[in-house]
Amino acid sequence: MASYIDANHLKDVRHAMMTCTYCGFCKSVCPVYEGIGWDSSVARGRIILAYGMLNKDIPADQSVVDNIYQCTTCKDCERRCPSGIEVVEIVERARRDLVANDLMLPKHRKLVESTLEHGNPYGERVGVAATLGEKKHSASLGYFVGCTSAYRNRSIAEATISILSKLGEDFTVVDEECCGSVLQRIGVDDGAIEEIMERNVRSAVDLGVEEVVFSCAGCYRMFKEEYPKFVDVPFKVRHISEFLADKDIKLKSLDKKITYHDPCHLGRHSGIYDAPRRLLSRIPEARFQEMQHNRDTALCCGGGGGVRSAYPDLSAKVAARRVDEAAFADVLVTTCPFCVSNLRVGKEKSSSPVEIKDLVELIEPLVEG
Ligand code: SF4
Ligand code: SF4
Repeated sequence: MASYIDANHLKDVRHAMMTCTYCGFCKSVCPVYEGIGWDSSVARGRIILAYGMLNKDIPADQSVVDNIYQCTTCKDCERRCPSGIEVVEIVERARRDLVANDLMLPKHRKLVESTLEHGNPYGERVGVAATLGEKKHSASLGYFVGCTSAYRNRSIAEATISILSKLGEDFTVVDEECCGSVLQRIGVDDGAIEEIMERNVRSAVDLGVEEVVFSCAGCYRMFKEEYPKFVDVPFKVRHISEFLADKDIKLKSLDKKITYHDPCHLGRHSGIYDAPRRLLSRIPEARFQEMQHNRDTALCCGGGGGVRSAYPDLSAKVAARRVDEAAFADVLVTTCPFCVSNLRVGKEKSSSPVEIKDLVELIEPLVEG
């Protein structure tokens, strides 16, 4: 039976929730609202539910839990909100309260248990370096592969390693465990995440790295934005697109029309918009064209915030909308293995013939060795 919960994490954002004027500007951008159509599935609806849970006016029944977990945490509503409400912070605090009251979704529970037991949400038993046939060693540059590139979209990890090798970089894979993003998005207690952060930082430091590059936008955001809130990060953190854009790379030509999808983790959450575009602009003969929604207005791929694992049909519907928008291009390029996976799922529901590739997959064959 649904019950009222103790919402201790939401207490600190009571004032923020009260500043919502219910103007509805958030409704015009929420990718999930497009797929569900109910007011409870946009920012203002989620804020009302969270506020109701905090005041014990609204019990945490299944519909409330679903609405709190159907947010991709894409942050697009924050861009539109005239009151400057940090919606993602409110949603993630509500999730922490649901988890603390034993209301974690069963699909998420599996991911959490697997991450805590095996170091990755996929339940894989072999470490990242061994999976890729790499050996970690002392080097000035580290490559943090990320679970999705290591275990599901391996061609992204292989392309990254190949590019770094072609450029003659002295690098090592970090041989990490999950960066903790999955746990943080779901609402797991900070203590467990902090321990993961400490272990990952120590792994990199023990290899003597001065800089770590990331091919996953989610892992990058964790190290750039979230880790420093909890632990000391004594090395430079860069997304691979930033790292490569700053290199004098010679690329072979590619006679294709290309467009670019900004991952929410890299774009709105981390402010990286130019580096991938700078790199794409250097491909001879490639014709680049923006989608209607680009940079900070980019549509979400629908995969983030635990939505893909718990609500796959909704996630695919959101992804198909983004793929439709790219139908004019030959290749839809992005910079996150999770976006790549989800956009490919969305393509199955779309009539768009566009090919979907990660930036490193696109440029690896073009990099002069
Ligand atoms: S845009 Fe902001 S103030 Fe307006 S309804 Fe949405 S959350 Fe509330
Ligand atoms: S963060 Fe994205 S999915 Fe969540 S309420 Fe805002 S616009 Fe909707």
